[in-house]
Amino acid sequence: MNTQAGTVTPMMAQFLEIKAAHRDALLFYRMGDFYEMFFDDAVAAAEALDIALTKRGKHMGEDIAMCGVPVHAAESYLLTLIRKGFRVAIAEQLEDPAEAKKRGSKSVVKRDVVRLVTPGTLTEESLLDARRHNFLAAFSELRDDCALAWVDISTGALSVLGCDRLALGPELARLTPRELLVAESAEQELAEVTSNFDLAVTPLHRGAFDSAGGAARLAKLWKVASLDAFGSFSRAEISAMAALVEYLDLTQKGRLPLLRPPQQEARMSAMRIDAATRRSLELTHAMGGGREGSLLQAIDRTVTAGGARLLERRVASPSCALPAITARQAAVAHLTEDDRLRGDLRDALRGAHDLDRALSRLALERGGPRDMAAIRSTLDVADRIAALTDGRDLPGPLADAARDLGGQEELHELLDQALVAEPPLLARDGGFVAAGFDEDLDAARRLRDEGRGVIAGMQADYAAETGIQSLKIKHNNVLGYFIETTATHAAKMLAPPLSDRFIHRQTTANQVRFTTVELNEIETRILNAGGHALELEKRIHDRLRAAILDQAGPLGQLARALSEIDLAAGLADLARSADWCRPTLDDSRAFHVEAGRHPVVEQALRRAGESFVGNDCDLGDAPLWLLTGPNMAGKSTFLRQNALIAVLAQIGSFVPAASAHIGIVSQIFSRVGASDDLARGRSTFMVEMVETAAILNQADDRALVILDEIGRGTATYDGLSIAWAVLEHLHDVNRCRGIFATHYHEMTQLAAKLDGVATATVAVREWQGEVIFLHEVRRGTADRSYGVQVARLAGLPASVVERARVVLQALEQGEREGGGRKQTLIDDLPLFAAMPPASATAPAAPSKVEERLRGTHPDELTPRAALELLYELHGLL
Ligand code: ADP
Repeated sequence: MNTQAGTVTPMMAQFLEIKAAHRDALLFYRMGDFYEMFFDDAVAAAEALDIALTKRGKHMGEDIAMCGVPVHAAESYLLTLIRKGFRVAIAEQLEDPAEAKKRGSKSVVKRDVVRLVTPGTLTEESLLDARRHNFLAAFSELRDDCALAWVDISTGALSVLGCDRLALGPELARLTPRELLVAESAEQELAEVTSNFDLAVTPLHRGAFDSAGGAARLAKLWKVASLDAFGSFSRAEISAMAALVEYLDLTQKGRLPLLRPPQQEARMSAMRIDAATRRSLELTHAMGGGREGSLLQAIDRTVTAGGARLLERRVASPSCALPAITARQAAVAHLTEDDRLRGDLRDALRGAHDLDRALSRLALERGGPRDMAAIRSTLDVADRIAALTDGRDLPGPLADAARDLGGQEELHELLDQALVAEPPLLARDGGFVAAGFDEDLDAARRLRDEGRGVIAGMQADYAAETGIQSLKIKHNNVLGYFIETTATHAAKMLAPPLSDRFIHRQTTANQVRFTTVELNEIETRILNAGGHALELEKRIHDRLRAAILDQAGPLGQLARALSEIDLAAGLADLARSADWCRPTLDDSRAFHVEAGRHPVVEQALRRAGESFVGNDCDLGDAPLWLLTGPNMAGKSTFLRQNALIAVLAQIGSFVPAASAHIGIVSQIFSRVGASDDLARGRSTFMVEMVETAAILNQADDRALVILDEIGRGTATYDGLSIAWAVLEHLHDVNRCRGIFATHYHEMTQLAAKLDGVATATVAVREWQGEVIFLHEVRRGTADRSYGVQVARLAGLPASVVERARVVLQALEQGEREGGGRKQTLIDDLPLFAAMPPASATAPAAPSKVEERLRGTHPDELTPRAALELLYELHGLL
């Protein structure tokens, strides 16, 4: 391999040629049992994988850096590389090295890239989280029309949605795709949105987004004359889907995965939840990024991977469509009432495998016998469930699902007969086809396995025929199988008539060796039998694969049906065991929850042996609640639990409360708890203001807004002023439902001025100088803030607590003596003095501040511009 400076070996030439076509990926170059990487790829991979970097030969006078990973362990290395943001091109050997040798000593084994592995195109079980979707998305912008399409190639589910740049952020937050395809020309501009998310952005050439060519290609893919068969798609929607298909073609090297017909999402059908709200409510991911601690984790009682993924989709996009929600709710309700049926269904579902992903792997020719067995056992499960539901009067979604479970008898029987009980993962080594399925295969296997027995039988025949009892059939590597006899007996066989049949092969010192035409044949057959059996099994594998893929559509439906049943049964199980209630949903503006609880906090408390105090919330008469109470009393918990109850209600679930009546919520906004976004150079206050601006600009009268401690990140009066103005805006302009938590007691005076605002407080009791948190939300206001007591609980040194108490007393005394100084102080604030009394029916004329605010688009502001705006606004006060 050592080469002279300047010369390139044929292998290196091949490597460089393949690498030139895949510059943006690490090239895994197959050499025997290893994938090798060279040059910069090797340096980068060695570091990322923490494996040894070595050298191999020279190129242009320089050492060639090299590292490698064994093929059998490649998946785990791939996972690490993908997680670290690499793309990997896998170049396989496309022929037997012996073939290459035949062409000449200098000839190199043919290799080419068979697949590009990227974050959005994974299919391997070991590389995927079974209970989460792995989406690849594409964003397309035509002149005045934009769309987002996304696909999970491991299940084939494809969806599309009209979505402009402003909506892109919230959609990415909802779907959390791993990879986003954008047009090359737009990559930079979109970075402002995409950089907020943990995803790989892959630029594609403009042609990939061509809608005219795309429409034809998509129609061909789904074998329809026109895409109208699936709905009416805008050009941008077609373009986004076309980009997905182009990219799949590129990465899968022409082997397209199974793609389900596109689901067009109606923009208004899902509850709108922006990225900040998702984060703060911890719907599908906890603050730390994982599933642990999220709402999803707390409510997931599904027993199948498909059910878990469906739940993830529902939690990420609660519905606003009353009929769909109530139908799902009815399914859950039915199963809460029938413990027996629910238990039986869940028991049966536990035996189901991941049908969607098995199908998808088979479509991509990456599947094997074990995937087929997974489909077989899932069909067993479908049969059991069909039997359980047969003849019952079930609510809509369950009845629909039950109907989709049948119709696979033929495939089921085929798989039952064809496959052994526990087939191996790969088809390569055979052994997965059951005995009795194919006569030729059985014969080939018999010959292979019972070869010795067959030969032993022949030996007995020959001994009888020749009358030589000591005759043996033996085997060695030179002669293969042969008949051996001692020299004394040999004469008989060397003479006619036996010599006609027994052909002399070799004479040694004591033995003479023969063969027969028959033995030769048997030998060839035994030698070939193994290969032949493998060949037959491979053919059967292809046949089974074709039979399965032929049913891909109905099997997909069946998988979906199982997921629906699993989801409904899981939610019913939760509702039963955690004592949840069925909420009443309608088109009103009601929000009346009795004894509501926070599902995640309640679980955590229960684990610690404590119980959660249920609290009421009624936003009927007064749609906005102003909530006060000391730190640690339970304000944030109360805020969030009500938002989560709305989410749960609108995914069709029961809710953690004694009763609940909720008028459909179209959007939820939440600003809970301050967190610095230092990585992006924004202070806590800045983040808070940007997010608050987004709420004030977007919330409509169907929105539910929960705000916690707005204005905490700045000086007291600034903060109080902003909080005050924000509450007024929500009341007068947005007219939404909401809860506003604050530690500014002064604000409770505002509540008295606005009829749509009620006050509530989280009760605490003071006992011997210590606060006891009752966690009870009551109407009215708190008399004091208990900050000093809470500080003491937190372990502040006793001397500091004591000093604080003295200062507080002095301040309170000063206030009393100053004759309502606090009141004058508030009245003196120019902001409040300038504001005419507002009421729900006749909103005040907008102030300069409001006018200026209304004319701005927070989503389009850079942090700097936002800060400048804030100064400007402050100047207007
Ligand atoms: P705040 O926002 O008022 O500072 P939190 O909502 O963060 O307070 O609550 C503080 C802690 O109090 C929570 O972590 C939880 O353990 C407990 N808590 C809150 N609400 C309740 C409740 N309703 N019942 C029992 N414990 C609660």
